[in-house]
Amino acid sequence: MKKEPPQKYASKIFKKHNHNACFNDSMKAFQKHCVQKNLKLTPLRSKVFEFLLRDHQPLGAYQILDMLRDSGFASTPPIAYRVLDFLIEQGFAHKIKRLNAFVACSHPGSTHSPTFMICRKCDKVAEIDEKDSGIDLKKATSFDFKVEEAVIEFIGLCTSCVTVEAT
Ligand SMILES: [Zn+2]
Ligand SMILES: [Zn+2]
Ligand SMILES: [Zn+2]
Repeated sequence: MKKEPPQKYASKIFKKHNHNACFNDSMKAFQKHCVQKNLKLTPLRSKVFEFLLRDHQPLGAYQILDMLRDSGFASTPPIAYRVLDFLIEQGFAHKIKRLNAFVACSHPGSTHSPTFMICRKCDKVAEIDEKDSGIDLKKATSFDFKVEEAVIEFIGLCTSCVTVEAT
């Protein structure tokens, strides 16, 4: 079998990375953001962000609800959705339409339109740095159209799943 060329738009999620540092940095960034913006960092908000961050796996709202209950939170769907909306508004999470699930943002604190690579086999999701995606949303204005929100989702196979399929 021919070896796959290295992923051009490699993101840190499909790559091996120091997840402990990644987790701690994101957690710290979130805490700092809440202090700076004078937002309440409730245990619930902190917990949901922690779940999303845990192994970069997209989670559905009901999965999150189950995890909250397992952690001793008496949560209802509206509460879970409110927390998710908060995380999205603050730029720390995104919704992946194709999977109807949520992920932690890989470069929080900046306003951006996320671009995702979704593995159709294992549902792993990587967020590409906007600058690396090569997609210039401002260019769309030349089509007499102003982009307000863009959700770009690439479907494919991650490196580990490509290896499995090739054998
Ligand atoms: Zn990580
Ligand atoms: Zn993002
Ligand atoms: Zn995969």
